[in-house]
Amino acid sequence: MIKTEKVLHLKSSRGRKVRVVREHYLREHVPCYSSLCQAQCANEGKVLSGEVTHYVMPDAGVARDFMEILEFREIQGIVFTQTACQAVQHSRGRRQYNRLRSLLKDPRHHCILFANEFQEYSYCPREKGEPQDKWQTRCVYHAAVWYHDHLAGLKPVVMITEDQNAVAEYSSLNCGVYVLCTQEYLQTFWPELQAALELYCSIAQSLQEKGSEGTEREYTEHLPAEVLEAGIKSGRYIQGTLNVNKHRAQHEAFVRFEGSSNKSSELNSDVLVCGGKNRNRAVHGDMVAVELLPKGEWRGRTTALTEGQGEEKGDETQSQPMATGRVVGILQRNWRDYVVTFPPKEETQSQSRNSQRILATPWDQRIPKIRISTQQADKLQDHRVIVRLDSWDSTSLYPNGHSVRVLGRAGELETEVQTILIENCIHVPPFSEAQLGEMPVSSPESPWSVDPAEVITRRDLRQTHLVFSVDPRGCEDVDDTLSIRSLPPGPRGERLELGVHIADVTHFVKEGSLTDLEARARYAMSVMWDLDAQTLAVNTVWYGRTLIQSSYQLYYELAQALLNGEEAEVPELGTIRDAKLAQLTQALETLTHVARQLRAQRDKGGALELEGVEVRAQLDEDRNITALVPRQPLEVHETVAECMIYANHWVARKIQESFPQQALLRHHPPPRQEFFNQLQDSARARGFTIDTRSNKALADSLDRAVDPRDPLVNRLLRVMATMAMSNALYFSTGACPVDQYYHYGLALDRYTHFTSPIRRYADMIVHRLLTAAIAMEKGAGPAKALASNKELEEVAQQINNKNRAAQHAQKVSTELFQCLYFRDKDPETDERCVADAVIYTIRANGMLVFIPQYGLKGAVYLKNREGQVVSERQDGGCDWQTGSLQRYLDHITTTTAVGTSTFNLFQHITVRISVEPSRCHSDTIRLEVVSNRPHQAPETQVQTSQPQGARGRSQLVQEVVRQAEEASQQAEEKRGRASKLSTEEREFRQSKCPNLYSLLEEVRELALLDLAACGAGGGGLGAAAQACATSA
Ligand SMILES: [Zn+2]
Repeated sequence: MIKTEKVLHLKSSRGRKVRVVREHYLREHVPCYSSLCQAQCANEGKVLSGEVTHYVMPDAGVARDFMEILEFREIQGIVFTQTACQAVQHSRGRRQYNRLRSLLKDPRHHCILFANEFQEYSYCPREKGEPQDKWQTRCVYHAAVWYHDHLAGLKPVVMITEDQNAVAEYSSLNCGVYVLCTQEYLQTFWPELQAALELYCSIAQSLQEKGSEGTEREYTEHLPAEVLEAGIKSGRYIQGTLNVNKHRAQHEAFVRFEGSSNKSSELNSDVLVCGGKNRNRAVHGDMVAVELLPKGEWRGRTTALTEGQGEEKGDETQSQPMATGRVVGILQRNWRDYVVTFPPKEETQSQSRNSQRILATPWDQRIPKIRISTQQADKLQDHRVIVRLDSWDSTSLYPNGHSVRVLGRAGELETEVQTILIENCIHVPPFSEAQLGEMPVSSPESPWSVDPAEVITRRDLRQTHLVFSVDPRGCEDVDDTLSIRSLPPGPRGERLELGVHIADVTHFVKEGSLTDLEARARYAMSVMWDLDAQTLAVNTVWYGRTLIQSSYQLYYELAQALLNGEEAEVPELGTIRDAKLAQLTQALETLTHVARQLRAQRDKGGALELEGVEVRAQLDEDRNITALVPRQPLEVHETVAECMIYANHWVARKIQESFPQQALLRHHPPPRQEFFNQLQDSARARGFTIDTRSNKALADSLDRAVDPRDPLVNRLLRVMATMAMSNALYFSTGACPVDQYYHYGLALDRYTHFTSPIRRYADMIVHRLLTAAIAMEKGAGPAKALASNKELEEVAQQINNKNRAAQHAQKVSTELFQCLYFRDKDPETDERCVADAVIYTIRANGMLVFIPQYGLKGAVYLKNREGQVVSERQDGGCDWQTGSLQRYLDHITTTTAVGTSTFNLFQHITVRISVEPSRCHSDTIRLEVVSNRPHQAPETQVQTSQPQGARGRSQLVQEVVRQAEEASQQAEEKRGRASKLSTEEREFRQSKCPNLYSLLEEVRELALLDLAACGAGGGGLGAAAQACATSA
């Protein structure tokens, strides 16, 4: 080892230049991490494959500015030098550096780190007076030459740089070591990777524009990091996350301060930040430091409802003045990918002081307009595009960004769905070919077969148990199966054995790899209860790995038909059907009986029956939505769900017993009492009392709150109860006191997710925990060290966040489908735009209504911008008149010269549905009163109180999907792509190129887990539980 000195010129955050001398050790052996190594390097961990045409080595400038290009998984064989990595760390900060580090760790990215500055022969000391960037480029070039020689010239090495002088100086020095600029490199080596080249151009343009920026200051400079830090410590500044008010995005934001950063005790609320200057370039979500303004300048937050037409500009009412401040610095940017809409041509021209710069409007109203330099302004107009923010200097009114990917034309279904997913940070990158390659494929030539070694270690149920699955029609991801049989009587009487068998996914899935459908249907993780046939008391429980053979793959309607004794076609039954059919039907009946009792036990404990989302999309073989199916409460849904809940409960007990400090459970905290106010007020208006002191009291009082004349009343009360609920959450057992393990909705003291490992990551963790628990019982230690309480709690929080995002995406996507359905209909003439609605909440300037026919909820305003109110005519119709509004607990009245109109809680009225279009954001549904009487549907539907109109809803989705299908067909034809897919492709199509509708559907399921968890019971099984009974 050689000791030398390294001189660093660093810049302090105050801007001072500091010269630092560091000892620097050089070694002869520094691992190269290439599989072509000829020198026995100690290459441990990730190693570059030799199966590429060349290795590529970005210089410091490329690594610093074009990291996004290097993130393309297609670009393989990347060697990051230590020099380049340090450049990223020093000039781009911790966040970008972490991104690079995770890239280096990620096994899916073919890149490695070469510590060139520790390598005795590749290190070059900086010469006196040599500019830093020149020196860095020289270092990387020397590293490239060394690397090439080290591999004995077996692989060409391409260094990429943005420095044209370096290209000229180095490119012909060494045979086998090439020097190219990035653009030429992409064009030469990756001509197929158009997206990378486009991204390159977009970033390059943005960098160029930044260099030519003006110097006039628009904002105050941010304070340096050390000043902020000291200021926060001393209590002068307050640290927190900036939250922009969506409805007043330009004017109002709040800083939610975190921790006890502020010493002054008077501050116990958010800090208001008014206007763009005070916000000082902070973007929604950023961690900022704020300074309070003098008390004389404090202001109040806006309280008037600003949504929709009820708002009046001059009518803004402000609350009491509150702590108000200004942003003095940014502690951490939390920028993500944003979807923006490019303006139409007219606007581009009018705003083009510089023709290359476009102001694009983000879909998220809380994000400011983003200035994007592009040469494709014409091509992009009216398109939705993913952009990333680059910088926001004090001289620039708007932040600068660059475009990453075009999603499509605004308003098209595919574009809108993608937008929702991206805006909620739900990433669905297609699986790479390499990943698909590692999947064990079962083909006629080499069929998958059971491994004899596995047979020995597993309990073999293939001959002894009738195993079957019940799922939604067309379900592909069958991961849960059931069994039930009688056991020989024991000392205490008759016995039953209930079994829940879940695909043993963790046996196959090494992290990130795919699994074989065939295989996962045979290996299972099972929970089997030996039960007293009368009381269902548990004699013993067995947990373990099994080998199963599922005899029937049933769907709900079929299973229910068998239970009802109806004629039904069971595909698996051949000619000798009678005996087998009787056996299957018997099993289903026993299962139903058991589930009823289990449910009754939970009911005693206070399990809630709540109201989830009302519609569910039905998928065909190609996973396209063919219809929106209304809730059809079949008992078999509940039966399956109840068995899954039971399995989840018992697995939770098991893993918590085995790992009291580090098991992943799921709890549902009781809701805050004040959230029930609306429910209680509304119920009282109808003469019902809702007791919310416990889940049991709530369940009982909801059961009693039934209006025999209008079943909707009970349904709406349950909707309101659901809205009052908090989310169920994952947690690590060590991070939460035992008395908080309780699941309020399910009325269970322990709960987790075990039954859906294909769909949910949490279930995979639980499978691993259960495996470890079983191993421990047998006296063996777990195969791999388990996550610590702290690690597991972090994972739990991450899944909880993802869940929340999915829930939001689900809500927005429902609105999207509704808007797409009504968008092309003329609300004035189309009968489908007029519907019956029920008032369920009274608000200051209107009311909230529910439209059963479309499963739609929304606000109806009774006062408009002109100060007019809705007034009822003699014939029951309504129009706008000058007048006043009066709100009461259970009704709202309008008074005009004509008279007084009253709107009561739970009253049926007639509304007109239209769409408020928005070019840059999502469209919104608008509702207005047509009459304050129930809707009299035209001749075809005489009875308005019919079971909630299934027709309307399925029409809605059918039409939306038909339009989308036509559009996509046209697009396919345009692309001239063969639409025929191989069987294998079809099978894994969702992975290869996700079908967006099915994806949304999955997001919906995910999002609904919490509702489903509460809603599994009575006649009110939530839609999600129908979609996937295992998700409870
Ligand atoms: Zn080597």
